[in-house]
Amino acid sequence: MKITSLRSLLELYKSSKLSFEEALSFYYSQIEKFENTYNALITIVEKEKVFQTAKKLQKKYEKLLKSGFSADQIYKKYPLLGVPVIHKDMFLTKGIRTTAASRVLDDFIPPFSATVVRRLEEAGAYVIAKANQDAWAHGSSGENSDYGPTRNPWNKEYVPGGSSSGSAVATLLLYAPIVTGTDTGGSIRQPASFCGVVGLKPTYGRVSRYGIVAMASSLDSIGHFTTTVWDNAYVLSITAGKDPYDATTSSAPTMAYHLAVEEAEKSKLQLRGFKVGILKEFYDKGVDDKIKQVTLEAIKRLEKLGATLLEVSIPEVKYGLEIYYIIQPAEVASNLARYDGIRYGNDRSYFGKEAKRRIMLGNFILSDVVVGKPESTSYTQAVKAKALLVARFKQIFKEVDVLAGPVSPVLPFKLGERTDDPLKMYMADLLTVPVNIAGLPALSVNVGWIEGFPVGLQIIGPYFGEALIYKIGALIHEFRYPLD
Ligand code: GLN
Repeated sequence: MKITSLRSLLELYKSSKLSFEEALSFYYSQIEKFENTYNALITIVEKEKVFQTAKKLQKKYEKLLKSGFSADQIYKKYPLLGVPVIHKDMFLTKGIRTTAASRVLDDFIPPFSATVVRRLEEAGAYVIAKANQDAWAHGSSGENSDYGPTRNPWNKEYVPGGSSSGSAVATLLLYAPIVTGTDTGGSIRQPASFCGVVGLKPTYGRVSRYGIVAMASSLDSIGHFTTTVWDNAYVLSITAGKDPYDATTSSAPTMAYHLAVEEAEKSKLQLRGFKVGILKEFYDKGVDDKIKQVTLEAIKRLEKLGATLLEVSIPEVKYGLEIYYIIQPAEVASNLARYDGIRYGNDRSYFGKEAKRRIMLGNFILSDVVVGKPESTSYTQAVKAKALLVARFKQIFKEVDVLAGPVSPVLPFKLGERTDDPLKMYMADLLTVPVNIAGLPALSVNVGWIEGFPVGLQIIGPYFGEALIYKIGALIHEFRYPLD
């Protein structure tokens, strides 16, 4: 028996048809079966330890049941009781090695956990492994990991996307029903698209960044992967919200996002009166024709469900990569300055090629100071362009409810195909970085197949419009398991 979603797992738990240890046996056997081939993980928590945790949580569940609480009441209080979770190796996990996939942190054991890790644990979940990724989350293919590349289960000669490469593959191969990720320029949405799973990049500030290795702080968004949209919405209901440890988190009210999904499921014509914008720039040159076709067909399906389609344009979107490759390296260079090897971790000679490239680029950008003309530095120019992009998106969301288009301009590529050409690698982020620059929420759902690879549709919402993009995504996402 395969457990293909969090929702079905919770149903099995609530009806006492499956124990926490039995569920863990399933997930652990998936890991044992596939990990040698796909390399989606960096650290696996000791088998004995995780089974002990499952047992302990099971006892807690049984005790609560015995004292008269119903399963529903218990899951209201502990919505993830007994659920195994895998975190991207950017997330600090108390007592469990956290490397960011760099040898700089090869032996780093964090003394505390990230807020997201803690919130999931307070909801009853427990950590079973840490996922592979591009080192420091720099990359779009998973090949920058100091722990070897992750392979795409749809064809193991191809990349799974990045930087949350291991997270997407662990989700697809059913290593765990919830896997976290970070998205600074597309690192959740792009691997979700390459693997055919659901990936959410929430609104900037919706989910706490506290305790997560910082890449570019003004762009970093903390999200997660699941096999279904309902599952994804359920997890966000737990992780979202104000955190006193992260001043950039918003106090905008959160909600039970999965209820919005259930509402959409009930009425298939939910989309009547809805306006879906098709961003012209997402269908320009540089985007694979077959991807254009498959995503447009998916958008047409939304029209059949009652939505009105509108073509819209934000010309400045095409400057996304230029803006991103000024702001991002500048912040990367600042953030990576803390790894001096004095207090923890190895010294700076352990940085890989890509991190060094970004440190050099970032420090060059930050040293571009024209005396007496602060407005003319490349950084200030990029920040101004960012403000313009924000204003344009805000304007567009007065005309449409959501925007839809491709996640990635290209299909998964072969391992090694782009590693010698950083500019070509950076181009993979063409359609995802504008969303990070503007700080908007966006979802990647699987809507079709080309040459045996899944194709993601990106649904972009207005600020804090997560419920909205989930509702739409739930109507068209299709999950398939790649192996048997
Ligand atoms: N691929 C992009 C980069 O290399 C985005 C990475 C990310 O979102 N963490 O910067």
